[in-house]
Amino acid sequence: MFAILTMMEREVKLENIVSLAKRRGFMYQGSEVYGGLSGTWDYGPLGVTLKRNIMNLWWNYFVDARDDMYGVDAAILMNQKVWQASGHVDTFTDPLVEDLKTNQRYRADHLVKDAGFEAEGLTNEELNELIIEKEIKSPVGNELSPVRTFNMMFQTTVGPVADEKSISYLRPETAQGVFTNYKNVVDNFYPDLPFGIAQQGKAFRNEISPRDFVFRSREFEMMEIEYFVHPDKWEESFEALLKDVHEFLDMLGLPQDMVHELEVPENDRAHYSKRTVDIEFDFPIGREELLGLAYRTDFDLKNIQVNSGKNMEYTIKGTNEKFIPHVIEPSFGVERALMAVLSSAYTEDEVNGEKRIFLKFPEHLAPVKYAVSPLLKNKPELVAKAREVYDILKKKHGNVMWDDNGNIGKRYRRQDEIGTPYCVVIDFETLEDNAVTIRERDTTEQKRVAIQEL
Ligand code: ATP
Repeated sequence: MFAILTMMEREVKLENIVSLAKRRGFMYQGSEVYGGLSGTWDYGPLGVTLKRNIMNLWWNYFVDARDDMYGVDAAILMNQKVWQASGHVDTFTDPLVEDLKTNQRYRADHLVKDAGFEAEGLTNEELNELIIEKEIKSPVGNELSPVRTFNMMFQTTVGPVADEKSISYLRPETAQGVFTNYKNVVDNFYPDLPFGIAQQGKAFRNEISPRDFVFRSREFEMMEIEYFVHPDKWEESFEALLKDVHEFLDMLGLPQDMVHELEVPENDRAHYSKRTVDIEFDFPIGREELLGLAYRTDFDLKNIQVNSGKNMEYTIKGTNEKFIPHVIEPSFGVERALMAVLSSAYTEDEVNGEKRIFLKFPEHLAPVKYAVSPLLKNKPELVAKAREVYDILKKKHGNVMWDDNGNIGKRYRRQDEIGTPYCVVIDFETLEDNAVTIRERDTTEQKRVAIQEL
């Protein structure tokens, strides 16, 4: 009667997730009514709650529950000097090639990788050589232009005069908003080392070819921590943060065997990084980066000190020991976390011989915790009782949905598809015994529970 097809659980197709996300109000293509804007996505009523649940969980776990973390929320637009000093103006680039017939542009390293060759860490010249030697063509089979670098920052101007001085950029990462506030936090709070500053917020990258649903978007949300440490003690903080990252991924409900650590080799690391571990996940599109953990040394603070002329040194309390702290950075992308959550929650099984799709979210992430239904919507006494129960649950849990649309089987299917852990049904017996039926999403089991015990 009830069989979970465990193999199918893991073979989730991206198109199934995209279609469910749209059908049930999680995500829509950005500017869809006007034909869309590539690389942008809008969150629907359920998606925004799921996203907030993920972001709040992260904030609670990494900031509120700890004594060594401070939150900030910096402006997205920053002085252009920030991006000159950080190296983004010169080096935040991707290798671009153009289809010589259609003029469509692609990421050279992605085309090389799609053709079955290693592309990680290759220079433009090396990519060029490979493209020529292996006769790599555009996805529609045309010749490609030589590889050139393309800066991914969205440039804009601030104020009524557009000139060199008014240039600004939509931030491509949130980290710089933390580094530029490091001194403010130290002056205000003088925390003991090690301590971290955390930030969540939008980031923008003009990706050459956004693809794979929200995995590679042009506008996305990041959750980053810059963790400041004594230069001699970076290793222990790195290991501790790596452990915390795994614990957080467990809380997202990601199966441990789908999460992998990739020790990034030296030639693939950013030049300032002494160690980087990418956490990869088995997405429906294959094993890809979910987040990164990087030891950034004192690269950023030192650059700020040189370029701003302001002292970025930290003095160990009660001593004269002064130095620029080193930094460990866990950097999460919210959309990739959301895609990992959706794809590990997506499950198909069979109930009474019928295929069923459900999202097996951990309860604390589910956008709707309870759906409340009167068994029949044309019986006023049932509706009134159901409203009573709805009000009790709504007051207690917030995310409770009223659902009286279609027959009870259809309601269960709909709630399964949006991952509601419990459906509460009020029937004629309720009027007699003040108890309701609670139907559990994963097992489809039904229990009778007294209203005052809900
Ligand atoms: P990739 O190699 O996949 O382009 P990256 O190494 O450039 O990623 P980082 O600069 O380390 O990514 O960014 C930190 C995190 O931000 C990534 O691990 C990912 O979760 C997220 N992220 C980066 N670029 C995008 C994007 N275009 N769309 C969605 N999330 C992104």
